[in-house]
Amino acid sequence: MKIVVLDGYTLNPGDITWGGLEKLGELKVYTRTSYDLSEEDLIVERVGNAEVVFTNKTPLSKESLKKMTNLKFIAVLATGFNIVDTNAAKELGIVVSNIPTYGTDAVSQMAIALLLEICHHVGQHSESVKRGEWSNNADWCYWNYPLIELTGKTMGIMGYGRIGQSTGRIAQALGMNVLAYDQNRNQSLESDTMKYVEFDELIAKSDVISLHCPLLESTKGIINKDTINKMKDGVKIINNSRGPLIVEEDLAEALNSGKVGAAALDVVSTEPIKIDNPLLKAKNCIITPHISWAPKESRERLMSIAIQNLNQFLKGTPINVVNK
Ligand code: NAD
Repeated sequence: MKIVVLDGYTLNPGDITWGGLEKLGELKVYTRTSYDLSEEDLIVERVGNAEVVFTNKTPLSKESLKKMTNLKFIAVLATGFNIVDTNAAKELGIVVSNIPTYGTDAVSQMAIALLLEICHHVGQHSESVKRGEWSNNADWCYWNYPLIELTGKTMGIMGYGRIGQSTGRIAQALGMNVLAYDQNRNQSLESDTMKYVEFDELIAKSDVISLHCPLLESTKGIINKDTINKMKDGVKIINNSRGPLIVEEDLAEALNSGKVGAAALDVVSTEPIKIDNPLLKAKNCIITPHISWAPKESRERLMSIAIQNLNQFLKGTPINVVNK
């Protein structure tokens, strides 16, 4: 059985093993193929007559799938599977699976790392020290940014699912009060320091707003000029869910005016980030290159679930199927 991995590099830049997949068939791993459907011919050529294809962000359209005549199973190496035309796959009898959860702890840890960077600017202070600014300082200490203590402040969490709840637990451990907005409520999670509220109350009362809802038609652009205007002056915004949850021009304007005190983002509307993205030049904006999912421990977990997905498919009892 031929197995093709179309874009294996981000999952495994060389520090984990493809061995588990090699045991299951004749494996060909491409580091990168394309993020762009205009390169459909290359994508089709690389899949060739393989029965199994793994893709992370290389798109598989209806047109491409029709030309992959031997294909039986698409294993997406991520949670989000919007890059695959799952309806077309279903019509063609191709099973599509995803990795529903593998990095909850890593992603929530990164949300808090982004928040702590806003509070302490650890990286920037360290760089300042190495530039000699401490050695030449008149006083025994200095700080280049306002420093923030989180205890007693309110974190509003949009989307109180796996990652939202994990982030909420850490925030409470830091002494914060959590307000959560989610249409699916688990009332047993409520406590003195965690309450579900409606969206309007969350944005009005939070000192920090952290986004953990999925990207859907209903959540696209949920952080925009109007919603920002209803937030507290100086609010801090964290996003390591999906870039298009935020209207970036509106956030950049609010950062530059000071309405939003700071933002820390691990995701943007187009990735890799475009050089003219207005957030690159906005005040008080920290941006990281979509690394929340990527600690080795999470990638190893992802790989092991991907292998399980293929194994179960081969046994005739597929799991994590997204196009039933
Ligand atoms: P999850 O399904 O466990 O939780 C999502 C929650 O959002 C659910 O409770 C759901 O009810 C809620 N929700 C849905 N629509 C909503 C809306 N309109 N308003 C408020 N809440 C809404 O998912 P998860 O595992 O916690 O992942 C959350 C998101 O994190 C993913 O959708 C993905 O976009 C993102 N993510 C990012 C990375 C990264 O590397 N940056 C990695 C993994 C996941």
